[in-house]
Amino acid sequence: MKKLALHWQILLGMAAGVIFALLMTNFSWGAEFISDWIKPFGNIFINALKLIAVPLILASLIKGISDLKDISKLSQMGTRTILIYVFTTVIAVSIGLGIVNLIKPGSAISEDTRNDLITSYEGDASVRIADAQRQREAGPLQALEDIVPSNIFAAASDNANMLQVIFFAIFFGLGLILIPEETAKPVKDFFDGFNEVILKLIDLIMLAAPYGVFALLAALVVESPSPDLFAALAMYGVTVIIGLLLMIGVYVLAVWIFTKRTPAFFINGIAPAQLLGFSTSSSAATLPVTMERTEEELGVHEEVTSFVLPIGATINMDGTSLYQAVAAVFIAQAFGMDLSFGAQLGIIATATLASIGSAAVPGAGMVMLVIVLAQAGIPEAGLALIFAVDRPLDMCRTTVNITGDAAVSMMVAKSVDKLGEPHVKNWDDNLDKVKGKK
Ligand code: ASP
Repeated sequence: MKKLALHWQILLGMAAGVIFALLMTNFSWGAEFISDWIKPFGNIFINALKLIAVPLILASLIKGISDLKDISKLSQMGTRTILIYVFTTVIAVSIGLGIVNLIKPGSAISEDTRNDLITSYEGDASVRIADAQRQREAGPLQALEDIVPSNIFAAASDNANMLQVIFFAIFFGLGLILIPEETAKPVKDFFDGFNEVILKLIDLIMLAAPYGVFALLAALVVESPSPDLFAALAMYGVTVIIGLLLMIGVYVLAVWIFTKRTPAFFINGIAPAQLLGFSTSSSAATLPVTMERTEEELGVHEEVTSFVLPIGATINMDGTSLYQAVAAVFIAQAFGMDLSFGAQLGIIATATLASIGSAAVPGAGMVMLVIVLAQAGIPEAGLALIFAVDRPLDMCRTTVNITGDAAVSMMVAKSVDKLGEPHVKNWDDNLDKVKGKK
């Protein structure tokens, strides 16, 4: 029998997780059972993915940059990457603004519901507001200052410092290009081998993916708040999701037009990474898989993926910026505020910057939303309004963040002539090999 493709296995795992959790909620001990005995396996799976994120970035970026051989190629690719990333983010925010102004989900919220929501989530929201306050108190150049670590081991010991690790890897790679080739060779060989080992580890971890997502989704179902709250926020959620779907459409079209790769090719290639992004709500945790799929299935050369994707995972969050635009206007609508055109233009700027500043971890987009709200003069307490549905929307926006990174890497690859055929070390074959079936 033909083996089920990885993305189907993951989808089955997700569906089974949801069904299992729904069945378990019929028993008084069901939720506790899932929290105690199922959820830890989901956490182990995410931890394993995160475990290899820092070594992967180090190995693949250093290898990728030293493969470039000269600095002009690096700066050409760097400029294109950043420009396309910012451009897609601005498109995403604009789509978000367009759709939320069209649907006006906030007007449907009655005053009673608004007050109920605010009282239920006041505490949670104030934690986010305090987090954001800390970020806001920093000076205007703090973000730039934070990119340069003073100690690489300290930087590498915290997954939140991904940009610092990226900085070090690029810097180190530069050094490697600049020294004589024969001196660089042993170091380069080491990182080549190191990179291979990490890629093999990703294969091994992916064997557990269907079970990992089963555990993650089961835990999510038993921990989510009451369905009534979801219902009140349904229009808002639907608005975000329509915007996100449109954004996926934009990527598919852009990839089709610029690289001549069909939508089916693109989506089939990236689907497992999307599903993992959905289950983990973290672009950082999904990065190893995004890199492997983009390279092997979408045919993007390693020189490009190793540079474009780690940077994208940290700064390119189109799903997040779109969500921030919708959420900000939704809260304003719910409070009966009319946002001027100027205020909405301001949201384009702040949501673009806030999404760049959001960490690639669950819930980060909501912390940065506070800054968008403050800038537009929208009450921050409104955060409590959208708390109940943040997690499911986080799952959806993370999927879009990842899709955007992959799409941009294909376009950058095409522009520097590094887009080839999928060199299918076929993923599923590869898994078979690991399992010893081939
Ligand atoms: N969870 C998102 C990500 O990792 C960030 C966010 O909260 O929007 O891409």
